[in-house]
Amino acid sequence: MAQTEKRLPENIEGDLYVDSTCIDCDACRQIAPAMFRDHGGQSSVYRQPRTSDESLQALMALVSCPTASIGSISRRSARDAARAFPTHVTQNVYFCGFTSEASFGAWAYLIVRPDEQGGNVLVDSPRFTSPLVRRIEQMGGVRLMFLSHRDDIADHAKFAQHFGCPRVMHRGESPAALGVEQILSGTDAIRIDKDLQAIPTPGHTRGHQVLLYRDDVLFTGDHLAWSPARETLVAFRDVCWYSWTEQTRSMAKLLPYRFSWVLPGHGRIHGASAEEMHGHLERCVAWMKTAG
Ligand code: SF4
Repeated sequence: MAQTEKRLPENIEGDLYVDSTCIDCDACRQIAPAMFRDHGGQSSVYRQPRTSDESLQALMALVSCPTASIGSISRRSARDAARAFPTHVTQNVYFCGFTSEASFGAWAYLIVRPDEQGGNVLVDSPRFTSPLVRRIEQMGGVRLMFLSHRDDIADHAKFAQHFGCPRVMHRGESPAALGVEQILSGTDAIRIDKDLQAIPTPGHTRGHQVLLYRDDVLFTGDHLAWSPARETLVAFRDVCWYSWTEQTRSMAKLLPYRFSWVLPGHGRIHGASAEEMHGHLERCVAWMKTAG
């Protein structure tokens, strides 16, 4: 829980604040950009909510903060905000909120599908917390967990146990040690079912993989994300743990695929036409070749 005595001086006066435990994961700034800003290495509240919609957004940021660094002096109820997750992104894809410090605030997503189409898929893992688990139960539970790589899987074991679902991970992440049930291998894309393809993208880590849904939504883990500052798709050179050369090769491997959404673990979500996304991806690959 946030503590008033740790309130950062960069916060504007008022009820909501960020304290010094903020790890600069960016979640609050994405969820409630009208209230939270980056003041340099951490977040702070630069405007207090003015409407009930803004208040809900700010409290959704509060419940999603991985380090519980956002506080309310009046101790506003965050019950409605907690119930707002998973929140809709596009088609039948939802952002789970409730990020975990164990994965540095990485974002996890839920694909909601009828059982006859294979059922729901949880992409990476949020924090295992009662309000979220209840909402996911109401939305049909989880039939499969897709794990992009080791860094973003937080409470995967608790979700797998609770929902009795298998987890899918690439061999390069040493998944057997994590108790993962379905282990993929090799460098070729693997069709998990009719509308899901796992595409190995080694680079950020040895066994990183992305998930393509309906040839339209690409779940990218820590491989690829949107940069609002550069207004294009980017990879993260400074947190490439395995091989930048491999990651560049893996990025080029995505060029033949069509998608109009990028939903990353870290970095920003972006949607555009498939043609625009292809252009951004081409620019990203070209930039990566010069950034080695
Ligand atoms: S969500 Fe929490 S940890 Fe992340 S930037 Fe905001 S205050 Fe900091």
